[in-house]
Amino acid sequence: MNRILFETSEICDDIATSGGVRAEHVLNVLHGEVGQRLKTGVVDGPIGTSEIVEIQSGATREGGPVIRVRVCHEAASLEPWVDLVLAPPRPRVMKRLLPQLATLGVGRIFLVGAKKVEKDFWGATLLKPENYRPLLIDGLMQGGTSILPTLETRRNFRKFLNEELDAIFPGTRRIVAHPYAKESSVAVSRRETTPDPRLLLAIGPEGGWTDEEVALLEAKGFARYSLGRRILRTDTATIALLAKLNTEDL
Ligand code: SAH
Repeated sequence: MNRILFETSEICDDIATSGGVRAEHVLNVLHGEVGQRLKTGVVDGPIGTSEIVEIQSGATREGGPVIRVRVCHEAASLEPWVDLVLAPPRPRVMKRLLPQLATLGVGRIFLVGAKKVEKDFWGATLLKPENYRPLLIDGLMQGGTSILPTLETRRNFRKFLNEELDAIFPGTRRIVAHPYAKESSVAVSRRETTPDPRLLLAIGPEGGWTDEEVALLEAKGFARYSLGRRILRTDTATIALLAKLNTEDL
């Protein structure tokens, strides 16, 4: 955890109170003491630093510690730089991937029903906000940012592309990850004259995109992009693509 994030509801008169994993991390990993300063922030809000004002051991129902910090959150977090159209892998893989998407700077995630997505994915309990939200917040705390990615599902891929995509992402650069691109020389510099500097990246299911799906994406302005002839798993491909396409200034 490189920044501790609090929910707005946990902050009252500039004092944030937290138990559980975050308090344990502050005490056991950061060796927190009263007076120590921490990097903190508000989920989907500003970031800054806080000072530990109180530590109570054994204060939660489970016998864990509770910390109180005085927050000073005046800076804006780094903004996301990329959005995803993702044909989801199995829930177990998705669960591992979600925190990493938040860490790597993804803003909006659209899970789409491409042909080879397993049908039972859509019944997964992971799709409930109470289950995926904590995973995304974990990823933000790792990366030190606070803008919470949004997650939406669109089972009808064709309808999503034809009827919604242009309104949601007007003028974004669009790239479809596909091992069978002729070449991977798409210039991905976001300093080009695109009206919106954010990228929109489409990643296929474990079984791959169908030819029809690739054609549809290309018709919508997605340029094929290959990482080479080795076929990567969806989660590996996603992380490799985000690392490679990230042109954020350091
Ligand atoms: N058997 C499938 C493999 C799909 S891999 C096929 O033949 O297409 C799952 C997804 O990860 C792909 O649809 C693509 O979006 C991405 N991916 C995997 N390896 C890749 C590579 N070498 N280059 C670009 N994208 C890749």
